[in-house]
Amino acid sequence: MAIIESKGDKAIDRNGKTRQAALFHALADPTRLLILEHLKTGEHKVRELTEHLGLAQSTVSAHLACLRDTDLVTVRAQGRSSIYSLGQPESLDELLSVAVQLIPGQASEHHWQEAHAQRTAGV
Ligand SMILES: [Zn+2]
Repeated sequence: MAIIESKGDKAIDRNGKTRQAALFHALADPTRLLILEHLKTGEHKVRELTEHLGLAQSTVSAHLACLRDTDLVTVRAQGRSSIYSLGQPESLDELLSVAVQLIPGQASEHHWQEAHAQRTAGV
């Protein structure tokens, strides 16, 4: 997904700020955060993600395309399906744990795992 760049402002990009911004852009959407958290439980096909999260396939595909622009998510082919998994699960975990501490009044609340209640039943 394209990131808006300030024309002529090379100083901003000198330290990789554009790439950092692209990473945070990927994290700047509740649905993408939900998908990332869901992938913690293991790799998924797009169809599985749509079923487990109750989202339209076009929605899931668009968000995965955005996440694939970073190293947050990796994809491999299996037959005609693409299988998605987390690229760097430990780093993501660490990043999100720190991020939660920056949300006013929410330091101890963490509901990510609830999103996957269906799958723990044996999917
Ligand atoms: Zn699932």
